[in-house]
Amino acid sequence: MSEYAKLKTEACEANLEILRRNLALYTWGNVSVYDPERKVFAIKPSGVEYDKLTPASMVVIDLEGRVIEGNLKPSSDTATHRILYQQFPGIREICHTHSTYAVSWAQACRSVPVFGTTHADHGALDIPCTEYMGQAAVQNNYELETGLLIAETFRKRNINPLDMFMVLVAGHGPFTWGNDAGKAVYHAVVLEEICKMAFLTLSLNAEAASLPDHIIRKHWERKHGPNAYYGQ
Ligand SMILES: [Zn+2]
Repeated sequence: MSEYAKLKTEACEANLEILRRNLALYTWGNVSVYDPERKVFAIKPSGVEYDKLTPASMVVIDLEGRVIEGNLKPSSDTATHRILYQQFPGIREICHTHSTYAVSWAQACRSVPVFGTTHADHGALDIPCTEYMGQAAVQNNYELETGLLIAETFRKRNINPLDMFMVLVAGHGPFTWGNDAGKAVYHAVVLEEICKMAFLTLSLNAEAASLPDHIIRKHWERKHGPNAYYGQ
């Protein structure tokens, strides 16, 4: 059996979760799972329908972009995943979808304000939206530059990717990640819901304000950080 069997099973399972959670139409979207010891990740093959995915169809890639195992062509977004694993140490899974509300915010080029505790439970900051990618970057290596654009957005705003697991790429859509297998897709589901709630909030009150900082901190810190007490 392949030494990557467990990783490929995890990646297949995570990709199937996109389908179960209604986050993608057709073959849109992709998830990868990273093995920090071997420094490789398993990712969805390009253009294969979700109901045809099997662990054996996953493609294993190293951080230089070489195919280590797999017979199919990897997702066209593979270079974005690779750059994010390089730039954001500690993340173990990455998910990309074109879910409707998250894409709508990305197309409006708007970061998502913390309007309520659902958002604050998953991040104490606005969900950042990048700027549009420049022409030279698009022509150079679009998918690789997408990863660099995300990393640059976090650096410029001094955001720790282990405190904010979601980003919107302007005009494109969401990328999410997590520090464990299963977490990136979970964050993609949560992001879609937060974006929907934020849209509805603004449609009811275009002047809606962000949640006061003391409530944001309370909700974030009871689930994360040294004094977390949420859960069992
Ligand atoms: Zn996309």
